[in-house]
Amino acid sequence: MSKEIAKVVKQTFLNLKEKNILATPAQYNKEFCLVAKEFDVPVKDCKKFKEFIQKLNEEELKEVENRKIQTPEDLIPILLERIAVKNVSSLSEMLSNSLIPSISLQLDEKLAKFNIKIGNSPALIFEEDIQKEMQDFITERFHADKAFVKQKTEDIAKLVTLMGKYLNDAITNNTSGSENVSGIKAQIQAIDISKSNPKDLSDLQSRLVNAVEDIENEMSQVNKNLAKDQNNVCSLEDRIKTLEAELETAQKESATDHLTGLLTRRSYEKEIKKIESNYERNTIEYAVVFFDIDYFKKINDTYGHDAGDTVLKTFAQILLKQTRELDVVCRYGGEEFVAIVHYKLKRELLGYLKRIKTIVADNKFIYKDQRIHISFSAGVALRSSYNDYESAVKKADELLYDAKNGGRNQIVIDDGKVI
Ligand code: GH3
Ligand code: MG
Ligand code: MG
Repeated sequence: MSKEIAKVVKQTFLNLKEKNILATPAQYNKEFCLVAKEFDVPVKDCKKFKEFIQKLNEEELKEVENRKIQTPEDLIPILLERIAVKNVSSLSEMLSNSLIPSISLQLDEKLAKFNIKIGNSPALIFEEDIQKEMQDFITERFHADKAFVKQKTEDIAKLVTLMGKYLNDAITNNTSGSENVSGIKAQIQAIDISKSNPKDLSDLQSRLVNAVEDIENEMSQVNKNLAKDQNNVCSLEDRIKTLEAELETAQKESATDHLTGLLTRRSYEKEIKKIESNYERNTIEYAVVFFDIDYFKKINDTYGHDAGDTVLKTFAQILLKQTRELDVVCRYGGEEFVAIVHYKLKRELLGYLKRIKTIVADNKFIYKDQRIHISFSAGVALRSSYNDYESAVKKADELLYDAKNGGRNQIVIDDGKVI
């Protein structure tokens, strides 16, 4: 074997000399392997080059062919162009990350397996099959994200529509709407965005549901307050009714008439009892005088009810002013008055009646800018002409009727005298 090697060495040097090539280690090595091959001498070192070549990838092999590379040294520039192993692993990691869908979580499991495979051997990214798989993931990722966004947009649209419906319902139907409100809330909660749901959409959903709950609480509070207020109003209404009834009773029982300040009929009846007992004891003469304003309805119709009231008040004042201590004046009904007038001499009574007639005739009743003229009729019964008060009153009433029939604006006395 060493003899053959020596032969190869010798021939190598001869060849180099002949080819006029310097015997540098590289040139020597190259020529040595050529000669060894020619002499069919197997040299382990010369086979190493072939082994290297087999480990090259397709493109590198092409380069070897193109550049007619025959020694391991000449391979160095090609190998230097290779990406460093540590760079390959960061590159593969980057590629793995780029395959993860940005929104959808659909590809999770499949992708995890693939990433583990690449993570274990980053150089796999240079393999055609792996690169094809990556391309498929990218396409799938794109579709998954697109579908997810579409789905979520529809969900949001649904939520917004439901919220709109809910609010509308809450506003227009705030007392009986709570059943509808609960239904709508259930619909919002039923929207299935739990599985493939990015966090922000879940947040949106729970915020909407919270909003609904807040509004619902507020509404039930408002309804409670309304119910409370309604109770208050009801009890106030009851109270007002009671007060009105009390006021009516009080007015009936009240001693004086609220418009004119004269005695009411009720308190007049009490007064007359006193006067009667006094009359029976002391025989102090008195007359029962019935007054009734003429055409009073027309005054109301022409000048208004308030003007009518003013006339009634003024007429009452005139009567009151002419009445002395023992006497009594009463508003008997609407525009009817009765006076008990004590006197010793009949002319005193006539004086009284004439004074009233003159005052009423000579004065215009003033209401705002209106000057209203009135007249009255009266019937007069002298107590001493009758057995009892009741008969006297009856007569006075009849005489008033006579005065009206006689043309009004007159006072008819039971002795036949007319003023
Ligand atoms: P006559 O000359 O026959 O007495 O006619 P008259 O219009 O005065 O009598 P009538 O009984 O037809 O009408 C009385 C009117 O008095 C009717 C009623 O509306 C009115 N009246 C009753 N009480 C009041 C009151 O307190 N205020 C006012 N303004 N009017 C009253
Ligand atoms: Mg009348
Ligand atoms: Mg009248």
